Order: sequence, then C-alpha cells, then structure tokens
Amino acid sequence: MEAKKIGIMGGTFNPIHYGHLMIAEAAREQYGLQEVLFLPSGHPPHKEHTMPASHRCSMVSLAIADNPFFTLDKREVDSPDTSYTYVTLERLQKECPQAELYFILGADSLFDFETWRKPEAILKHCSILAAFRKHGRQGEFFHQIDILNHKHPGKFFPLDTPTLEVSSRDIRSRVQSGRSIRYLVPREVEAYIRERHLYESPLI
Ligand code: ATP
Repeated sequence: MEAKKIGIMGGTFNPIHYGHLMIAEAAREQYGLQEVLFLPSGHPPHKEHTMPASHRCSMVSLAIADNPFFTLDKREVDSPDTSYTYVTLERLQKECPQAELYFILGADSLFDFETWRKPEAILKHCSILAAFRKHGRQGEFFHQIDILNHKHPGKFFPLDTPTLEVSSRDIRSRVQSGRSIRYLVPREVEAYIRERHLYESPLI
C-alpha cells in the first residue's frame, strides 16, 4: 500500500489569509497529499506580539472548514513548552510511522530555514515544499532550492503557485488603519475579526 502523504502548514496565522490557503492547496494538489494539517505556532519568539492562540485557531478553523483535506492541529498551541518544529515532526512521525511528511512554507521561511532549530532533524522526518513569495526574486528562490538540495539531497521541492503578495502583517495594518481586507482573507475570517474588533489597535 502507498504511504499516506501528509502536508504540514505551519504558521503564526495572525491572522490566516489566502496566501496560506493557496500554498496549502497547491501542495496538496501538486504532491498528491491526502491531508494538510494547519499547525498554528505557540508564542513564537521571532514574531512581534501575537494575538492569543484561541483567536488564531478559531480563524484557521473557519478558513479551512470547507476543505475536507484540511485539518487544524492544535498540538503546538496546547503545549506549555516552546514547540520546535523538529520535535513536532518527530511526534507526528511516531504517531503515523507509515506516513510521508511534507512541510509547506513560503520563500521567506526557505531563506531562513538553516537558522531554524536542528534543520537536520527536521529533514530526517519530512521534505520541504516551498512557494515563491516575492516578485523579482524568482531566480534567487530557485537558486536557494538548489543550494539546500546540494546540502540535503532531494529534500526541497518548489511549488508552482501564483504570487499572492499578502501577509498577516499587511492584514493587521489594514485593519488598524480602517482599510478593507475583503478578498485577502475568507469572508468568515473577516467577519470574525470585525465582530471582535481584532487588530484595531496595535498588539501589545
Ligand atoms: P507576518 O506578516 O505576521 O510575518 P505571514 O503572512 O508571513 O505573517 P505566517 O503565519 O508567518 O504568515 O506564515 C506561515 C507560512 O506561510 C510561512 O512559511 C510563510 O512564508 C508562508 N506564507 C505566508 N504568506 C504567504 C504568501 N502570501 N505566499 C506564500 N507563502 C506565504
């Protein structure tokens, strides 16, 4: 029997937006994944002040509700410890020893990848599917994939996606300055943000 292929879409999701959803769907389709786990991070040390995990998880849940392949995985936000990706992957692999794991990320994370805790341990358990993010640097993106594949053969794969230059930071700043976020996040996520007045003042 063929191994189950599971994608892992890690992120802060502060808030989730169409960039996240689009690359997860591209990964699912292009690499034949049977499931994509959306894995919101606990409080990440490298990010600015973050919305409580309960809100971030609720928004992920609303955003993925209509896609039967997408699942919310709260293990990192429910853990009292700092969650390192390599530990989460080790645990996932233990739970599903037959599965092939694919970690999905955007170009900025690809360039940072070697600064993550224990990249070797991460790559022991998964392959990386990377989406290009910014215009004008596509050559550098493919070059980075080549460099990483040279060091870690056969572990990095590109995703073929449109470039959707939306970021959570941009969504937050739009809400704060009273601008529209329609068509940048799913309607349900927009309603959640508006009803609770999230992101209207700077996160402290
Ligand atoms: P922020 O603006 O707060 O830094 P973000 O929009 O980058 O957040 P994260 O939750 O940090 O969102 O991202 C999770 C993953 O999704 C990262 O690997 C990131 O590179 C990727 N990603 C986010 N937005 C896009 C996008 N528009 N296109 C491709 N990849 C994206």
